[in-house]
Amino acid sequence: MDDLPRIGLGIDLHRLEAGRPCIVGGVPFPGCPVGPVGHSDGDAVLHAACDAVLGAAGLDDLGTLFPDRDPANRGRASTDFCAEAVRRARVRGLRVWSMDAVVETEQPKLAPQRQAIRERLAQLFGLPVDRVNVKGKTGEKVDAIGRGEALRATVVALLRPVDLRPLDS
Ligand code: MG
Repeated sequence: MDDLPRIGLGIDLHRLEAGRPCIVGGVPFPGCPVGPVGHSDGDAVLHAACDAVLGAAGLDDLGTLFPDRDPANRGRASTDFCAEAVRRARVRGLRVWSMDAVVETEQPKLAPQRQAIRERLAQLFGLPVDRVNVKGKTGEKVDAIGRGEALRATVVALLRPVDLRPLDS
């Protein structure tokens, strides 16, 4: 493999419904009246982040690796998917270098937990917090996001080759 960095893009949207547990970017929002509908925990940010990492590494997307129709994926924590995406990228000789996420939603309001989401993404994908960013946007009352019916996450990830040679070689 060459030593050039690689960019990947992931986009995911989940419908929001009343009474569902709300988790965004691996961070729970216990007071939120709505939460994402999904076969797993519905964490659109983590799903988009995984697709960005997998895409940059030239690997199959999340839906192909963990299909909805497989009962093993029902209610599964999306953090499992992150670990698997990092592992598979690593096998390809790549590590996540930076990540930038945009979350479009009316609820929950992200600002109070924005730093917590950055820290969680950094932890899950193995990079320093200062190379992860998260921006919250509303849907400006337009379309499904603006009406509060859905949450959409868009994530870009930069991957760089990792030198897997032992230090004493
Ligand atoms: Mg999803």
